[in-house]
Amino acid sequence: MRVLLIGVDGLTLRIVKPLMAQGLLPHLRQIYEGGTHALLQAPLPPAAITRWQAIVTGLPPKRQGLIPGYDGCDRCLLQVVASPPVSLSSRHQEQEDEPLWNLLSAWGRRVIVANVPATYPPCPINGIMLSGPPAPAFYAGLTYPPDFAVRLLEVIPDYQLMPTWRGVASWFREPLAEIRRLLEERRALLNLLLREAWDCCLFVLQEIDLLQHLYWDRILDLHSDVVACYVLLDELLGQALAALQPSDLLILLSPYSFQSIKRTFHLKEYLMRYTGEFLSPKAGNPSSQGVAGAGNWRGIDPWRVCGLRLLSQRLLPLPARRRWRAAHLDGSLAEQEPAGPVLANRPFSLMPASSPLGGYASIALADYLTERHIEDLIADLQAQVDPVTAYPAIGDIYREEACATGGTSALPAKPRRRLMLLAHDGVLLSQATGRRHVWSAGTPYCGMHHPDGLLCLYGAGLARAVLKPVSAYDIVPTVLTALKVPVPAHLSGRLLLGSGAPLASPSSI
Ligand SMILES: [Zn+2]
Repeated sequence: MRVLLIGVDGLTLRIVKPLMAQGLLPHLRQIYEGGTHALLQAPLPPAAITRWQAIVTGLPPKRQGLIPGYDGCDRCLLQVVASPPVSLSSRHQEQEDEPLWNLLSAWGRRVIVANVPATYPPCPINGIMLSGPPAPAFYAGLTYPPDFAVRLLEVIPDYQLMPTWRGVASWFREPLAEIRRLLEERRALLNLLLREAWDCCLFVLQEIDLLQHLYWDRILDLHSDVVACYVLLDELLGQALAALQPSDLLILLSPYSFQSIKRTFHLKEYLMRYTGEFLSPKAGNPSSQGVAGAGNWRGIDPWRVCGLRLLSQRLLPLPARRRWRAAHLDGSLAEQEPAGPVLANRPFSLMPASSPLGGYASIALADYLTERHIEDLIADLQAQVDPVTAYPAIGDIYREEACATGGTSALPAKPRRRLMLLAHDGVLLSQATGRRHVWSAGTPYCGMHHPDGLLCLYGAGLARAVLKPVSAYDIVPTVLTALKVPVPAHLSGRLLLGSGAPLASPSSI
């Protein structure tokens, strides 16, 4: 048996089911309906990097030295596209546990790893590794072994990891054409890789995530130009099915899905107001001694003004609606805090790793805050309810203890305590400021992440079935067992094959 795992960031049943019903995605339908499928869940924010790290190590972020929503890179990959490259050089050293490809390599299995997020720089494995985003904008250093890059460029001379490689300008001019072109290149890449010898191949696509952020309205209307992208994905899946033997296992998974933005909660504006009240002398909270400089923070942020001006200059040649979309794409440039301590003497501060389109936000908490202060903030956040729809703004709130801090000694300059907020369904946690009201309308143009993912298992003699919701941590034990490699004792995930699989009632998800 071999295992081919194809990850499609953001694949959403709500979108692909109508297309499958129209007969437009025959291969996806074959995989979805002909095998086993389940809701994929993870007790983590729906950020691509965090979720993929959980999938490929079988461990929560604490064990990997990762803090979800904490690192600058741990945001939606849409923001990674628009941002300057970030340094990930210490990531491999910080991980205390082995990713799937190291375990398989140690047991002599041949592995191919392509485009898995946060795998730069590529590490030596028993096979081929092609780093995924984020990574520097050149391809020579993206592969292990290094000479695989030569073969790659023979087949795909214009190979690009992410759209920024050819300059942001061409990406902004016509993102949809770029997404289509990248999907065609991914098909050629998969074809090249599957001709190699492999026992396990992990192959990830980010293009559907980008498409759904930028063209959500057109997708809901099933416009032919965006449907063409799903058809390209389906052709890639057809190629994968054709390469498989009957005994091989195909795993198709999406670490999170997508949803419409129905309403907007201006979280940064809310935090500014809450801080203003918190710091008022009447409130009896910490004096100005503890929060020196905080009084200025209602003023104009020069960095933000500068960032917005730069952004508007770059986007000026675009038609109005596209400019709007691109501004969202580039939102990270406008919203990032300047370098320096995250809190900058504020009691509560929205962290740069927050991701409105990712559906989550992080709030740094100053060291001098008491438990009472933090509990008050949590209670106030939970009380924020939309006056129009009566929806709460926040779905879940995690304290840093719940989301793990692992390795704070390696990150001495960062605040020790924080809150992780997951948006309520359909609510965007905006970072815009200067708003009269903290609630406003949503937007039909952009899609945002939804925490629910999808898992499909196909082939290897599997019967048609629906499983109870599975966890991101179940993937590593399942792949190792399929390839007859012992599962390390510290992995707690369940096996999704055989008699132990958590079967649900035979209703569809
Ligand atoms: Zn995204």
